[in-house]
Amino acid sequence: MYLHGTSKINSKGHLEIGGCDVTDLAEQFGTPLYIVDEELVRQRAREFVEAFRGTGLRHQVAYASKAFCVMAMCRIAEEEGMSLDVVSDGELYTALQAGFPVERIHFHGNNKTAEEIVMALDAGIGCFVVDNFIELDLLNTLAAEKGKMVNILLRITPGVEAHTHDYISTGQQDSKFGFDLGNGSAFRAVETAIAQSNLKLLGVHSHIGSQIFEVEGFRMAVEKVTAFAVEIRNKLDYTFTVLNLGGGFGIRYVEGDSPLPVAHYVQAIADAVIATCSGAQFPLPEIWIEPGRSIVGDAGTTLYTIGTSKDIPGVRKYIAVDGGMTDNPRPALYESRYEAVVANRANDQVTELVSVAGKCCESGDMLIWDLKLPAVNSGDLLAVFCTGAYNYAMASNYNRIRRPAVVFVRDGQADLVVARETYHNIVGNDIIPARLQKQAVAK
Ligand SMILES: *Cc1c(COP(=O)(O)O)cnc(C)c1O
Repeated sequence: MYLHGTSKINSKGHLEIGGCDVTDLAEQFGTPLYIVDEELVRQRAREFVEAFRGTGLRHQVAYASKAFCVMAMCRIAEEEGMSLDVVSDGELYTALQAGFPVERIHFHGNNKTAEEIVMALDAGIGCFVVDNFIELDLLNTLAAEKGKMVNILLRITPGVEAHTHDYISTGQQDSKFGFDLGNGSAFRAVETAIAQSNLKLLGVHSHIGSQIFEVEGFRMAVEKVTAFAVEIRNKLDYTFTVLNLGGGFGIRYVEGDSPLPVAHYVQAIADAVIATCSGAQFPLPEIWIEPGRSIVGDAGTTLYTIGTSKDIPGVRKYIAVDGGMTDNPRPALYESRYEAVVANRANDQVTELVSVAGKCCESGDMLIWDLKLPAVNSGDLLAVFCTGAYNYAMASNYNRIRRPAVVFVRDGQADLVVARETYHNIVGNDIIPARLQKQAVAK
């Protein structure tokens, strides 16, 4: 069994995270429950920040908040000296409500609405990562109306394909994101941006994919992006001061996943930047990166109560938990794999091969196929590891299931950071029009 961060098996044979026995957490907060190992989140953040400090490059490590965007997490990102990426008004609102320094917030997205742009401009956002020509024009118009100069990066697709799942590679040419480097679109975008009265072009952004286990893709992206910066300097006499190389650093979900230590990714990026820039006599830019999954992914554990089971002799044994695709849609979306343990009997010998089903009305609502577990009973607790990224963030109310609570655990203390949804949350936005309301029956 692979245990992440502060997770361990205590003397009672129970899983313990952040010094908290998860059977106590289940009792106190109920299940399903998202448990976040706060120390591990902070450790990951520090690994990035400290690795950059070691390179001597000016830098910003922006937490890609979409991975897990709640106010308490924004506070931790700020305390750990990170910047913050948002991709919608909702994420921006969350960050602002948490008091995150607005000058360190970067606004992403391939279809920002005018309302979102205005909200970000009014807040005084640090930087827009502009995705397309329509946005470039709209942003300049809105900034001009408000008499503001705004910092921008241009998102470019560098034509680098990260070795990852097809759905989550975005650096290749055939992508909905960004200005294409190969076909001249990125060059025209720079020309256009420089000519705008109210935009200050800092540089370019590239994001080549997610769950990446090697440095080669980043190296290639640095080379392409730097070559582009040099071309812009030579042809347009304009010097970028920021290069943003995106996120996508892989984590270990299951045996066989082999992420590199965070410092290796950072060092490879830094080495490539320093080598390519000095080769071209280009002034060293500030380097931004945007880790999401690698900050919060392995710090998250989802705790479920096991309910029913179905044994089909010679075929498969299903066990069902009190959550599923509503709190973790990733297996259904990406065929993502997870490891898990019976949290209240973590030392028991594994004797069975089971598949873990959710409780939603979808055959595809499966969390884990073919998991080795001890024989389980109704009422046992199942802890699924590595659910910190894109789980709560992607959770839904399908089947009108209430979204679970989230707790941060650290040094034996458990703090609720998101309350479990209530029935009121479920029907709170429903409206029965007058014509459908039950009439008082006339006597
Ligand atoms: C999703 C995303 C990230 C974060 O990706 P991770 O795989 O979670 O590190 C960073 N930058 C951009 C532009 C993204 O879209």
